[in-house]
Amino acid sequence: MQQKNRYIRLAADLQSDSIVDGPGLRAVLWTQGCAHHCKGCQNPQTWDFNGGGLVEIDEVLKAIDELEYQTGLTFSGGDPMFQVEACNEIAEYAKKKGLNIWVYTGFTFEEIMKLNEKNPVYREFLEKIDVLVDGRFKIEERDLSLLFRGSRNQRLIDVQKTLSSNKIVLLNEYEYNESKYFERIPMYV
Ligand code: SF4
Repeated sequence: MQQKNRYIRLAADLQSDSIVDGPGLRAVLWTQGCAHHCKGCQNPQTWDFNGGGLVEIDEVLKAIDELEYQTGLTFSGGDPMFQVEACNEIAEYAKKKGLNIWVYTGFTFEEIMKLNEKNPVYREFLEKIDVLVDGRFKIEERDLSLLFRGSRNQRLIDVQKTLSSNKIVLLNEYEYNESKYFERIPMYV
């Protein structure tokens, strides 16, 4: 019998070579399914909740094992929050392997905390995330000069500081760099 939540619906295989979905060389998990339907979305093919393909989570974990030089894993889509259980499991694994975690979502941080009132797995997922890029893409606020996001309403949230202080703390990019999230810490030095 298949276990529950052991599959994730993906739009593509794990991408291993992104330099635009967060700092450094990153892997990207393109989740399938998004209900936000933002005007001007770059990936409308990822909206369909029956599109893409169902992939065993263990297959994703194996692909993560094969990463060598990547500093982090980014969850994008689609919207990873629609498959929060699976993403939480994958993030837990990636985090233990030393990858930093970025997540792109159309929900705002505040909306996710509301969802968490009904299902605490949202917070469990947040506890593994370094940076959340939150909010829907708003074409009227589109700005090509923004770092790692498409429209001005979207925020780069330092999730751990936000959770511990109970107020939104935006990413301090200098501190983030200094704390070497951009580099993978060598296992043996
Ligand atoms: S949240 Fe992201 S994937 Fe979903 S419609 Fe908006 S831009 Fe597209």
